[in-house]
Amino acid sequence: MSRVPSVYGDVENVITALEFETMISSGKIVLKNGKPPGAVALIQCVGRQEKGYCSKTCCLYSIKFARILKDKLADVDVSEFYQDLCLPDKADQNYFEEAKKKGIHFVQSDEIEIKDINDRIKVKYKSAEGKKEELSVDMAILAPAMVPSQDTSKTAEMLNLPLDETGFFKEAHEMLNPVATPIEGVFVAGCALGPKNIPDSIVQSQAAAGKILSTLVPGKKLEPEVKTAEIREEFCTGCQTCLSVCFYGVISFDEHKGISIVNEAICRGCGSCVGSCPSGAIKIKHFTYPQLYREVLEALR
Ligand code: SF4
Ligand code: SF4
Repeated sequence: MSRVPSVYGDVENVITALEFETMISSGKIVLKNGKPPGAVALIQCVGRQEKGYCSKTCCLYSIKFARILKDKLADVDVSEFYQDLCLPDKADQNYFEEAKKKGIHFVQSDEIEIKDINDRIKVKYKSAEGKKEELSVDMAILAPAMVPSQDTSKTAEMLNLPLDETGFFKEAHEMLNPVATPIEGVFVAGCALGPKNIPDSIVQSQAAAGKILSTLVPGKKLEPEVKTAEIREEFCTGCQTCLSVCFYGVISFDEHKGISIVNEAICRGCGSCVGSCPSGAIKIKHFTYPQLYREVLEALR
């Protein structure tokens, strides 16, 4: 069962975190009828199960919302429905403890149902002890899963960048090269890579800027890759197998000649295409079979 079935748009005064953030900025925390809410439910992890990842920021911003509600509306009841609390930074625990002291109820829960009953919102849930419970509130604020921006796939296609299984950009290496992409000179940072808070996004942006600046050394010349792939036209049957294996999108098909061609200026010389070609039409320059054979012979002497 989904943790929170989708009710957004069906039940009045069920709003998203972004809508509540706009309310805070406008200085008016009110219901559709213009009155301030007497009881508010904050519901985390909406869509987490379906998306298959934690959005990382919702726990903390929901605590922030709860605290703001308590500070701005003197008599409001605030309940925060969470599944797991993700509070990894050193100041987060204190922030959470202070919220509890303000009288905010933290409810570990699952299988939440939201219903519109007599102009109030009924939140039914399964408690951590496995009991079916319910609570009536005036407003419910959902913390939905963070998803890639709409243009991500368009940008990925334009720059030939890979996306991961969640639809965010994929980094060259999660540990060793977290802001680089397989395409040289293209870097990614912040939520383009996945859910991230503001400090982490700033750190990643600084890392990306540092990487770029370190390559812009006056007088430094770009060194092109010399070990590039080469397709021997006479052997190529035009099967296009190589197009699908080139991670860097370097190979294109020449419809007129009926063969594949390599853009040597951007080929990374990884060699994947060589092994994939059923006709043996592709070779990496300076790594021909006779050359490799001679090298092996020399090594064995
Ligand atoms: S895999 Fe080989 S034969 Fe097929 S298109 Fe590419 S180079 Fe040509
Ligand atoms: S060597 Fe690698 S980068 Fe170059 S064309 Fe072949 S698969 Fe693409």
